[in-house]
Amino acid sequence: MDYPTQATSTDRDPTRHIADGSYDEVIAATTQHAQAWLSNLRERPVPPQASVDEIKDRLGRELPDRGASDVEVLNSLAEHIDSGLIAIGSPRFYGWVMGGSHPVALGADWLVSAWDQNAGLRVVTPGAVAVEELAGEWLLNLLGLPQESSVGFTTGATMAQFSCMAAARNEVLRRVGWDVEAQGLSGAPAVRYIAGAERHATVDLAARYLGLGAPTTVPADEQGRIRVSELAEVLAAGSGPAIVALQAGNIHSGAFDDFAAAIRVAHAAGAWVHIDGAFGLWAAASPRLRALTAGFEEADSWSTDAHKTLNVPYDCGIAIVRDAVAMSRALGLHASYLQATDVGLDPHEKVPELSRRARGVPTWAVLRTLGRAGVADLIDRLAAAAAGIADGVARLPGVEVLNDVVYTQVCIALDDNAATAALSERLWHDGEVLAMTSTWRNRTVVRFSVSNWRTDAAEVRRTVDAVARALAAGSA
Ligand SMILES: *Cc1c(COP(=O)(O)O)cnc(C)c1O
Repeated sequence: MDYPTQATSTDRDPTRHIADGSYDEVIAATTQHAQAWLSNLRERPVPPQASVDEIKDRLGRELPDRGASDVEVLNSLAEHIDSGLIAIGSPRFYGWVMGGSHPVALGADWLVSAWDQNAGLRVVTPGAVAVEELAGEWLLNLLGLPQESSVGFTTGATMAQFSCMAAARNEVLRRVGWDVEAQGLSGAPAVRYIAGAERHATVDLAARYLGLGAPTTVPADEQGRIRVSELAEVLAAGSGPAIVALQAGNIHSGAFDDFAAAIRVAHAAGAWVHIDGAFGLWAAASPRLRALTAGFEEADSWSTDAHKTLNVPYDCGIAIVRDAVAMSRALGLHASYLQATDVGLDPHEKVPELSRRARGVPTWAVLRTLGRAGVADLIDRLAAAAAGIADGVARLPGVEVLNDVVYTQVCIALDDNAATAALSERLWHDGEVLAMTSTWRNRTVVRFSVSNWRTDAAEVRRTVDAVARALAAGSA
């Protein structure tokens, strides 16, 4: 089938659907294109095969005067974007930390678009809010976090951190008599933002958005965990309002901070403790892995992603704050035209957005489909696949696994940095596996981040074989 790049048909009125009001043709075409993409996801090359400029050329750079039919546009879009798509949903995609899409989450996400609910207010969109509230309640229960916490659904962990740390900043300042909502930040007492040396860069980004500046950093141990004795020293060296950011899941090692000890010293100094658990918070849902998070429930706020470990489609992050009032004070909005219920209960009081899609619905759907045991099994399988990759590649000549593989991350290196970078390039060109380079502990590494619900033992074997092939090609 030859799809026109720019529709030229003059015999069809592209605005016809406004008259007949039907979405049927569009749904049929969309279903067909989605099936074509999804059925090929396991076997197509994982990296993209075309650049941004190539795709723009194919789509056509000028907006034509005449429109085109909906189906023509969708056909053309699906055809021309294809080589520019990266197979994040492939079971051999290990780049950054990105999850695939569980089928039920995709279905729920489509319904969210079809329903087109603006999910900010309880009385306006009760169906969507009910589903999101249940997802939040289930999640607190599944993770063993305080049930009174407020849960907000954001675009990702970055904005979840922003939401949590906004509550933190305003609350630690309120405790010293400064009202940020009324007085703003100029002239306010300084808030100390303290974090481990191996915190995720986006925690700093959230702090920057909040006017907190760069952190005072605390050295990390050989797995990237904050050194608690040095955290105590940093806290003792200053005074005044403070926010300490801890980490559940280091992107290189997968390691978890010693929460019980770190939270004890931070709370003793009066600090608010936030935990960045973008992918690591989910360890708490597995009886086998829960010990990694021991003591984390004593923190004041937690951020995570559903679009990583839980495998809902982009995008969904989750902000959790124990003190619901602090959260709504920082993020809420009170205006006469909004049909507000009780202050602090409406979804828009837990996230930066007023208008937004009901992005918590796919999270509910995955939790409901898997059940408590299924979520635990998902997390255990991701960790088992990471252990399998580490075992397999450690047997290959010259490959060193640098981290203790306690969770879903594997960092490998060859004996020199250039060879490691070359290995990663050969993997990219081979296309069967996507794993990206990084620098960790002064070495170039290749990171495998296992985040896909379909990565099983067979995929692990294919992954190890692809690494073996790339190694052999390098020594040939
Ligand atoms: C991915 C990640 C983030 C940022 O999450 P986004 O969803 O990309 O905003 C923060 N912290 C950690 C540890 C992460 O892995």
